[in-house]
Amino acid sequence: MPPEPFFSGGGLDRADLLRGQPERIAELANDPAARELQWLDGLPALDGQGRLQWGMVDDPALFLGLDTCAPRFTSLVPQSPADVRAAFALLPLLDPHDAPILAAALSLTNWHRRHHFCANCGQPSMIVRGGWSRRCDGCGAEHFPRVDPVVIMLAEHAGRLLLGRQPHYPPGRYSALAGFVEAGETIEAAVSRELGEEAGIAVADVTYVASQPWPFPSSLMIGCTARALDDALTIDMTELDDARWFTRDEVKAALAEAPDAAFLPPPPYAIARTLLENWLALEVG
Ligand SMILES: [Zn+2]
Repeated sequence: MPPEPFFSGGGLDRADLLRGQPERIAELANDPAARELQWLDGLPALDGQGRLQWGMVDDPALFLGLDTCAPRFTSLVPQSPADVRAAFALLPLLDPHDAPILAAALSLTNWHRRHHFCANCGQPSMIVRGGWSRRCDGCGAEHFPRVDPVVIMLAEHAGRLLLGRQPHYPPGRYSALAGFVEAGETIEAAVSRELGEEAGIAVADVTYVASQPWPFPSSLMIGCTARALDDALTIDMTELDDARWFTRDEVKAALAEAPDAAFLPPPPYAIARTLLENWLALEVG
């Protein structure tokens, strides 16, 4: 079975064929089964069970899709959360079944809040396709919600894994190295470049493992593994506090949260955690 990071899964039926039919979307907003996502302080509101809260339709600005046959909408959210840590605090409480819906709603509303004007001619643009694009009547350009690809990868050398620390991590945490894919670059090239820049290692055999939408605000994390050709590190201290090789036993103890573990692992909702779990499972198999 391929690993399933948090934020992956079915989510809503995105019902793309309906997006080009504004009259039909208006009908759906009046459907007795239609519901609108509830927000609190710039974040989707959760109930006591960690499920997203839905209310009666009041401001159906964006059509999120269908839950079976029941239409789901959200308003435009005027504010982003004051602190992204508030969003991270929500994630451990969130039911994984609702996580892909939260990812879509958060990314989409963030994008609209930041993209009122046409990037081509500067005129105000308008929401079309149920909220899944914006069109400029000034120049005719159509703009789509942005998704920023990020590679996140485990490099392996002789049974050990390379993990690093970013300066903002809590004490003791080590995680997979990561970086944005640049324009004109393949996933494989981005993995090789980032590991070279941040840790000074050359790699081969870059392999895709799994991906994860990361709506802070609009990343797509692309999880990979790679084989390091050498274990000598030259760490970019402007990006990382530290990077080290960890043995299989050290990774195993960290994921088991053993009190004497060599490091604190990434949280369960991070794809880095999924990559580590997947690596351990493959080693056992
Ligand atoms: Zn324009």
